[in-house]
Amino acid sequence: MKQRFMISLQNRLALTYALFIGFALFVLTLIINIFTGLIFTTLIKGNIAGETSEIIRAMGEQYNPMSRSFDAVAIEAVGMHFVHEGYIITVEDERGGLVWDARSCDMKECMTVINEIAGRMNGQFGMSGEMRRDQYPVRYAGRTVGTVTVETYGPYFYSETEGAFLASVNRLLIAAAVILMAAGFVISVMLSRAIARPVNKSAEAARQIAQAHSGSTNGKPPVVRIDDHYQTKELAELAFSINSLAAELEEAERRQKQLSSDIAHELRTPLTCLQGDVEAMIDGVYKPDREHLESCHEEIIRLAGLVNDLNTLTSLEWENLTLHKTEFDLADLLRITAEQFKAAALEKGIAIQLRLVESPVAADYDRLKQVFINLLSNAVKYTDTGAVTVTVEKAANPGAEWEVSVADTGIGIPEGDLPRVFERFYRADKSRGRGTGGAGIGLSIAAAIVLAHGGTITAESGGGGSVFKVAL
Ligand code: ADP
Repeated sequence: MKQRFMISLQNRLALTYALFIGFALFVLTLIINIFTGLIFTTLIKGNIAGETSEIIRAMGEQYNPMSRSFDAVAIEAVGMHFVHEGYIITVEDERGGLVWDARSCDMKECMTVINEIAGRMNGQFGMSGEMRRDQYPVRYAGRTVGTVTVETYGPYFYSETEGAFLASVNRLLIAAAVILMAAGFVISVMLSRAIARPVNKSAEAARQIAQAHSGSTNGKPPVVRIDDHYQTKELAELAFSINSLAAELEEAERRQKQLSSDIAHELRTPLTCLQGDVEAMIDGVYKPDREHLESCHEEIIRLAGLVNDLNTLTSLEWENLTLHKTEFDLADLLRITAEQFKAAALEKGIAIQLRLVESPVAADYDRLKQVFINLLSNAVKYTDTGAVTVTVEKAANPGAEWEVSVADTGIGIPEGDLPRVFERFYRADKSRGRGTGGAGIGLSIAAAIVLAHGGTITAESGGGGSVFKVAL
């Protein structure tokens, strides 16, 4: 595979989850921050308004209606108290005369308080503001008796306690975000690992299967399976598919090896005979007369037939068998096929009987002919007395339309061999093949063709002979 920059599935998932969790946390923290800020600011503004009302009320209390003047000493005491809270106060009487002014009283203390508040707001909370002055009338018994000017850091400011409280809320929020982020990261890694591990395992298994079946492992290829049981449907399906693939490949490989050894075995016998005959003629043991040459020719014919059969079987089993269907009468096909065996049957002294009814089908004519040739050739081959009967009739089985049977009165097939006669290279009696020239391929070919037509083929045998039934 061409190596481009690639990120592993686990890392990609982990990164995606982490980014998502990070983003969600960031938005959440931002929203909480904005809301707490808004609530806190409303609260602070309320506090400042309350303090201002308290200043006006306290100053009013220092008014003496008798002397129509303020108690300057008490005002200073109250005023200095509020200076420490961040309120720089100036009090004037009803005529506009200055009663008390915080700056004139203690300029140094006023500046210290103002600088401290400005430092806190600017430095700690990043809020730049400026001093603002507001004037309020001082009332006594419903009458305006003076004016209070309140100077504060604006638009609002936090007292020392409020500042400390807000700072600890912010710290708490950051700590919570960091802890949640770390937890989110751990969860991302665990989650991505849980998903990526089975996928990686499947990929590794597929790679091993490919390696095992490409022959790059020396000796016997290892049996590759995914044994884990996954709860996730798709992952379980993936593991199942890979296991099935491995099993199918192993089976295909086993069949291929079996086929090679079967072919080698089948070719060896006629070749050995040929070799023996030819060598004997070369060495002068036999004369290359007609009899010996005919024996060689027979072996060559047998070999050619075997190779031909193998070729047909391979193309049926391994290539996509395409059927060229036409409409024809099965009875006609059977009649023509039986005709070909008449001479051979006559020679053996057996009869071929036909019980045919008109039976139209849509099927591959040539392929079906091959099926009946194989069945009839067996019937004639394995029968020495009696008859071979070919029948076509309406199928009793609802899954098929016509049933063709080829029955003979020959040697029959032992019951134990019946289920296996359609296997490749299977011969009911190993010694029979030599005498009759069969290699055990004819019925496999017939079965493959019938199967490709969606039909069934069965073999029965009991007492006198065998019956092969093809349902189409
Ligand atoms: P072969 O070329 O050996 O005949 P087949 O695949 O056609 O191969 O048949 C497989 C085996 O089934 C045969 O070797 C034979 O033992 C048995 N067989 C098939 N047809 C008959 C039959 N009509 N009567 C008896 N035995 C049969």
